[in-house]
Amino acid sequence: MKETIKQHFSERFGAAGVLYASAGRINLIGEHTDYNGGFVFPGAIDKVIMAEIKPNGTEKVRVYSVDIDEYAEFGLNEEDAPRQQWARYIFGVCREIIKRGGRVEGFDAVFAGNVPLGAGLSSSAALESCFAFALNDMFNDNKIDKFELAKIGQSTEHNYCGVNCGIMDQFASVFGKKDNLMRLDCRSLEYEYFPFKLDGYRLVLVDSKVKHELVDSPYNKRRASCEHVAKTLGVETLRDAELADLERVKDSISQEDYNRAKYVIEEKQRVLDVCDALQKGDYATVGDRMYKTHEGMSKLYEVSCVELDYLNDIAKECGVTGSRIMGGGFGGCTINLVKDELYDNFIATAKKKFSEKYGHEPQVYDVVVSDGAKKVED
Ligand code: ADP
Ligand code: MG
Repeated sequence: MKETIKQHFSERFGAAGVLYASAGRINLIGEHTDYNGGFVFPGAIDKVIMAEIKPNGTEKVRVYSVDIDEYAEFGLNEEDAPRQQWARYIFGVCREIIKRGGRVEGFDAVFAGNVPLGAGLSSSAALESCFAFALNDMFNDNKIDKFELAKIGQSTEHNYCGVNCGIMDQFASVFGKKDNLMRLDCRSLEYEYFPFKLDGYRLVLVDSKVKHELVDSPYNKRRASCEHVAKTLGVETLRDAELADLERVKDSISQEDYNRAKYVIEEKQRVLDVCDALQKGDYATVGDRMYKTHEGMSKLYEVSCVELDYLNDIAKECGVTGSRIMGGGFGGCTINLVKDELYDNFIATAKKKFSEKYGHEPQVYDVVVSDGAKKVED
């Protein structure tokens, strides 16, 4: 990838620029917790967006996307938004830096990536974080702090791409550290690194490649349930509720709201359990909580689908240590913690059984927890 980028850059723009990269992410556990003030537990992965960048002394950005094979050129004022979706991520990052009083001048760039698009690994956050990190280094003497870089990416999604996302993806992409996961407290935004060195285990994503389009805004309904229960309990978010509190109001809320809140409250504890277990090297407990998250997402929060439940069943049958839906649900990937010696059989079985039932093979992505945004040494 690096050589391809460099070749394109020298053909289009001449003398070499500086290389930067930022990563996609996984989330080991902690799903639908962000908007409830709970914990998430992501890590950056060994799939990145990489860009070569060089100031060009003009007021214009000129950028070529290797993977899409398109070129875009745009100014740095609000009315200069490019037409191409992929370029809007870069334009948005420039604008959000400028809006915060930072400096961005014209530059030339070529970028490429190997974060699968739209598979739940957050290629868009990788793209934003790569450029946010680069422009901070190139034009701002690295004065913008890392959390602000993540927020610049998040605001780009909100204001230039129409995606109302939380902070986790950009946080993970910016803060990621090799062999570490990060527990982010979505209420206080405090975070802590936890070593995650998989001796004898692998992390693999199995992508169902299905996406169920649902008509009745299921996410908004889940959020409304959580907010309603929190209000009934007199707390700001479900982060401040325990199961005993929920039991006390059981009769005054619907069964559906009860189930939703139960999942969220249990999920908060599961993230904490997994962090404890990791510190003891207790992967059996890590895996157990992953399965329990899946079950909760399927039965209580009701954001699974038959394909993901089937992948989860196959994992269980194959002796996979932990497996669950990763991401919002209704399609996408499962994330699996699997012993080295069981890996081959699990993947072969998942491909065979899934394609027999659903007519296509799932896509498999091996991931290794790696560094986030950085300058790439030549
Ligand atoms: P994801 O879940 O992967 O973040 P999104 O739909 O949020 O999915 O973001 C995908 C979009 O990000 C793509 O449509 C494209 O505009 C941009 N993008 C991601 N990776 C690349 C890439 N390698 N080259 C060009 N654009 C990319
Ligand atoms: Mg995205």
